[in-house]
Amino acid sequence: ELFTFDEFLTHWAGERPDRLAMREEDRVFTYAELEDRTAKVATALLAAGLKKGDRIAWIGKNSDLYFTLFFGAARAGIVMAPIGWRLSPTEWAYIVNDTQAKMVFAGPGFDTLAEQLAGKLDHVPAIVSAAEARAMIDQTVRAPFEPSGTDEAVLQLYTSGTTGNPKGAVLSNRNLFALRKHSNELDLPYTKWEDDEAVLVAMPCAHIGGTGLGIMALGAGLPGIVLAEFNPEGVFDAVENHGVTRFFIVPAALHMLLLHPRCASVDFSRLKYILYGAAPIPLELLRQCIKMFGAQFIQAYGMTETTGTICMLPPEDHDPEGNARMRSAGKPLPGVEIHILGPDGAQVATGEVGEIVTRSSNNMIGYWNLPDATAKTMTADGWIHTGDAGYLDADGYLFIHDRMKDMIISGGENIYPAEVESAIFGHPAVQEVAVFGIPDEKWGETVKAVCVPKPGMSVDEADIIAWARERIAPFKCPRSIDVIEALPRNASGKILRKDLRAPYWAGYE
Ligand code: ATP
Ligand code: MG
Repeated sequence: ELFTFDEFLTHWAGERPDRLAMREEDRVFTYAELEDRTAKVATALLAAGLKKGDRIAWIGKNSDLYFTLFFGAARAGIVMAPIGWRLSPTEWAYIVNDTQAKMVFAGPGFDTLAEQLAGKLDHVPAIVSAAEARAMIDQTVRAPFEPSGTDEAVLQLYTSGTTGNPKGAVLSNRNLFALRKHSNELDLPYTKWEDDEAVLVAMPCAHIGGTGLGIMALGAGLPGIVLAEFNPEGVFDAVENHGVTRFFIVPAALHMLLLHPRCASVDFSRLKYILYGAAPIPLELLRQCIKMFGAQFIQAYGMTETTGTICMLPPEDHDPEGNARMRSAGKPLPGVEIHILGPDGAQVATGEVGEIVTRSSNNMIGYWNLPDATAKTMTADGWIHTGDAGYLDADGYLFIHDRMKDMIISGGENIYPAEVESAIFGHPAVQEVAVFGIPDEKWGETVKAVCVPKPGMSVDEADIIAWARERIAPFKCPRSIDVIEALPRNASGKILRKDLRAPYWAGYE
C-alpha cells in the first residue's frame, strides 16, 4: 500500500504518465511532468541547504506552483506551511516567525512580499518570488534523495483562528493519505473515486479543504483543477469546461454559488458530488442547494488537527423533504473512533450531548511549538479533544451542536447558536444570521441574533422573533435582534462570533 508523497508520485508517473495531473488556467502538467518537477523541487531545496524537518512557507493564492513546491518538499521531508493570503502582513509575519521557515515562497501576484514583511520577522528567511521559484524548478537537474518516511512531518497547517490565535498542526504522510485509505475501505460509489473523474481545488490552500483536495486528487491519480481563489464563475467554468466531478466548499461558498445569477443555467450534468463542511450549514440552505444542483451531496466533519474529514453524511441521507438525518454530520469513517464525553470525562449515554473526542490515523502529530496546547488537546493514548459539542444517535450518526465555547447558557439551559441560526436562516428577509450569548443579570446570558437583510428588504425584530418561536423552543429564541451589513468571517468562511460578542461583553470578561 502507498503511503507517502514520494510513493504516490512515483506510482502514478509509472501507471499513467500522460494523464493530466494538474491544471491551473492554461498551465497543465501530466503525472510524468509532476513527478519530475517535484523531484527537482526536492533536489533544489536540499541543494540550498535545507534538511528533513526544516520548514518552508507559502504566502499566495492557490497555484500549481504551490502544489509542486509542497509535493516536492514533502517527498524529501521538508515541511510546507501554507499561510492564508487574506491575512494581514502582521498575521503573515506571526506565522512565518512561528514556523521559523528557512524559505518563504511568494505566490504569483505577491511580488512585494519582502517589503510587506520587512521589519516584522525575527529571523532572515530567503524570500523567493514565483518567477524565481519556477526558474529554480526549470533549471534544476534532478538528483537522488532520501524520501520522507510514512510518519514523518510534511505539512504544517494552521487552524482557522476562529477561537484564538491559529495553531500549527503538524501532519505526516500517513495523516494526509489516511482519508483516502479510510474512504477506500467503505467501497461505496461516493467514496470510490473513478478513473474518469476530476477534482476541483476551490478552497484556500492554507485550509485542509483546499490542500486536502489536491492531495485526494494525487492519491487517486486524477486531475486536480486548481482555482486561484474561490469565485462562483470559476467553479461554474471548471464544471462546464474541465470535467470536474467533485469539489469541496464551505457553506458560505455554497450560498454564494446559489445566489449567483448564472447558477440556474450552468450545465452541472458532469458534476457527481458536492462535498461541504467545515462549519454548520443552515438546513434551509442545504435544501435549496439540493434542489438547485443535480449533484449528490456529502457532508464532511473534521478539523485541521484531524487532517480534515473524519465523518461523512452520505448522499442517501440528503432528503430535501425530510430533515432528521440531514441535521447530522454523518458516521465516522472506517478506522475512526468517536466518543462523546461528559464533564467528568466519562462517556455519556447514546443521545446525550457532550464533547466530541476522536482517535484515528488522521490525528496530527501535535501542534508546532505549543507543548501545553498539544497536551490539552491530545491525550497520551491518542484521543483528540475537538472542543465541539455533539451526540451520537442509536445508529451511530454524529450530530454536532456547536463549539463548546459558543454554547449559550441562559437560565441554566444550554443553547447552541447553530440551531437558532438554522431556524432564522429560512426567514424570507434574512440573507445571513449569527447568534451568540450576551450578558444578562437575570438569566446569566440571553440569546442575541444579528441579521444581514436580503438586498432591498428590511428585518423586523418582532417578526424574526415570532418566526423563530414557531420553529424552536421559546427559551432558544433570540430576545433581541440587531441588523448589520455583513457578518465578520475569517478566510475559511467561518463566522467570527468572538468579534460579534466582544462589544457586548466589554467589562464582563
Ligand atoms: P481555531 O481552532 O483556530 O479556533 P477552527 O477550529 O475554525 O479555528 P478548523 O480546524 O479549520 O479551525 O475548523 C475545525 C472546526 O470547524 C471544528 O472543530 C468544528 O467546530 C467546525 N466544523 C467542521 N466541520 C463541521 C461540520 N460539518 N459541521 C459543523 N461544524 C463543523
Ligand atoms: Mg479548532
